[in-house]
Amino acid sequence: MANGVPLQSPITENLLPWVKVFGATEPTTILGPGQSALAWLDVTVPSTADIPEVMEHRISLQVTTPNPPLLPADLTETVALTEVSKRSALTIDPPLKGANWLDGNGCCSVTAHRGAVSPLNGQLVAPERFAIDYVQLTSDGKMFDGDRTSVNSYPYYGTDVYAVAAGKIVSIVNDLPEQTPGANPTGLTIEQYGGNHVVQDLGDGRFAFYAHLQTGSVPFKVGDNLIAGQSLGKLGNSGNTDAPHLHFHIMDGPDPLASNGLPFEIRSFDLTNQIVNMDNLADVTDTGGAAQFATGAATGPRSNQMPLTLDVMTYDVAAG
Ligand SMILES: [Zn+2]
Repeated sequence: MANGVPLQSPITENLLPWVKVFGATEPTTILGPGQSALAWLDVTVPSTADIPEVMEHRISLQVTTPNPPLLPADLTETVALTEVSKRSALTIDPPLKGANWLDGNGCCSVTAHRGAVSPLNGQLVAPERFAIDYVQLTSDGKMFDGDRTSVNSYPYYGTDVYAVAAGKIVSIVNDLPEQTPGANPTGLTIEQYGGNHVVQDLGDGRFAFYAHLQTGSVPFKVGDNLIAGQSLGKLGNSGNTDAPHLHFHIMDGPDPLASNGLPFEIRSFDLTNQIVNMDNLADVTDTGGAAQFATGAATGPRSNQMPLTLDVMTYDVAAG
C-alpha cells in the first residue's frame, strides 16, 4: 500500500525463496507460535513519478478459533510503515579494470549478501544488500586452473582495485594473512571477516567498502584522499573468503557491519555475458568448471546501471 494505493496485493504465492523463518532448519513459510521471520519484497512502479511518499505493508490472516471481539475471525495488521527514500543511486566508476568480471552474490535474489541481516545495537541492519563479490573468468570461462587451494591458480589474484570515486580513506586494515582457498577459514573474529580492507568516505553519508585485499597491499594511511580510478590495493584472499575475490559495497556509515547497504550504478560498462544459472555458477566456483552463458542475454554497452548477479562485464577505468 502506497499513498492509499495498493502496490502489490495480495502476495501469497511463491514466497518460499523470499522468506527466512528464524530458527527454522528447513526452508518454510510457516510461522510457529511466537516465531518471527524476515521477508524480502521488491516493489516496482512504472516510473519515478509513481514513487510513493510512504509504503505500508499489511498482513491479513484468518484465526482458526476466533474469540470476538478480542480475537475476530479475520485480522489485518500493519507490520511495516516506512517513508520511501527519494535519493538517487550513487553513480560510480568500476572498482576493477579489464574483461570477464563476474558479479557473484549480487542483486537481487536472496543471495548470501542480501540475506545477511544482523541484529546490531537494537536494530536489524543489512550492510551487504547491494554488495557484489567479483571474480574474473579466463577466456575459457574458468575461475581457476589447477590446484583450487593455491591462490596462484586464480589468474586475477593480485590485480589492482580502484577507487570508485573521489574521497578520503576513513579506515584501513592491511596486516591480516591470506587464507587458503577452497574453504571458509575458521576462528576469525567478526571484525576480521572483511579481511584487509579500505573504507572510503564518498561524501553525503555514503561510504565505499573494498574487502579481502592482499596482505600489505594498501599503500595509504587513514586520512589520505583518493581520486576516482586510483589504485588503492590488490585483490586478495584475506578474511572470511573461500577464493580470491573483491567484495565491494556502498553503505550509509563507516562501519562495514553496523550500516545499511545503499544502491549504486556503474557509469559505464560492457555487459558481455550472463552465467546461465546458479548451478553453473557453483560449478565454476567450486569445481573449476567452465561457465555456461545464457543464450539471448541482452548484452552490450550499459551506462548508469547496477550490475545484477551472474552478469559478466568488461570494465574500463580512465585514471589509475
Ligand atoms: Zn562478499
